[in-house]
Amino acid sequence: MSVTSIGIIGGGQLGSMLCTAAKKLNIKSVIISDDKDAPAQSFADEFILSKYDDDLKIQEFCNRVEFITFEFENIPYETLLKINDIKKINPRPIINKIVQNRISEKDFLNKNNIRTTSYISVKNENELKSSQDFIPGILKTCTMGYDGKGQYRINNEKELENLKISFDNEYILEKSVRLKKEISVIITRFGPEKYEVYDPIENVHEDQILKYSKIPAEIDQNINDQSINWAKYIADELNYIGTMCVEYFIDKNENLYVNEIAPRVHNSGHLTINAYNISQFENHIRAVCGLEKIKTEKIHNAKMINLIGDDILVYKNKKFKNNEFFFDYLKKTIKQKRKMGHLTTIE
Ligand code: ADP
Ligand code: MG
Repeated sequence: MSVTSIGIIGGGQLGSMLCTAAKKLNIKSVIISDDKDAPAQSFADEFILSKYDDDLKIQEFCNRVEFITFEFENIPYETLLKINDIKKINPRPIINKIVQNRISEKDFLNKNNIRTTSYISVKNENELKSSQDFIPGILKTCTMGYDGKGQYRINNEKELENLKISFDNEYILEKSVRLKKEISVIITRFGPEKYEVYDPIENVHEDQILKYSKIPAEIDQNINDQSINWAKYIADELNYIGTMCVEYFIDKNENLYVNEIAPRVHNSGHLTINAYNISQFENHIRAVCGLEKIKTEKIHNAKMINLIGDDILVYKNKKFKNNEFFFDYLKKTIKQKRKMGHLTTIE
């Protein structure tokens, strides 16, 4: 039986890359998004512009496709449940519920004896002012944050005293880790004991936004093994189907911490498109559509640079070498701190 179509909720660049991977497998892609300028519409076979609470459009989306997945985790949980009642979504919506909130995400990890930063819930001014034990730290909105949005660094008690926040959201205050390095592990789980795991990727953030990724990560064997084992453990525990990314911190004492779980394909894995026989996007489509698992192998070492904001302008007219692969997300407007494209270089 061959798969004919996949529905993807969300229309950003990750959606675009999933559509391209689906095309390679001869699978029709249908995107549903509430953004009329969603860049993935240039890559999808079909595009449905819809609010995430429009039942008629959601029904139409479900009718048009055989399998359903998503490209960003912050889809309203109610929408996911509604869709899931009509046609099963993978990864399962309950996973979104856990990771949509930074506190329930970290509670889940600690319950499973996986190290995270120390953290505290902060709901009001009083709780904030009495959380000196978590300084220096980073105050983050519990939900809907990405690329450092909704985050405040608090370096000392004076800054804690002076910080003014309107508490219309719940916050988490995380103690700062003295970072040596950041890495991520991308894993595709097809079912019990059935995974493909990519080598750990080394990541550099600037302004809390991913800027550079490379493989191999320069890490020791213990960290390498532990990061892969935790990723497998998490995927099993969540009964996960599809591609998932675990972001890690390594501190100056070589301790590994999970920073966060992305229940989806991930920016640090863009280099898998050119560096592996099967990309994270293709493996995601394969797993979600119940297709064959193919042994995933690295062909090249690689590095990737994110093109953020105006960076993209220089690249649009540039000539590239044979080992350079430029991706333009075709976003209508350039915004500061917005990911506009990336360049992968293979060795
Ligand atoms: P987002 O959801 O926006 O990606 P993250 O929690 O991953 O937010 O934070 C973005 C980046 O900010 C991290 O990759 C890291 O570089 C830095 N950062 C976040 N939290 C901490 C922390 N507790 N200690 C040190 N650095 C941090
Ligand atoms: Mg992150």
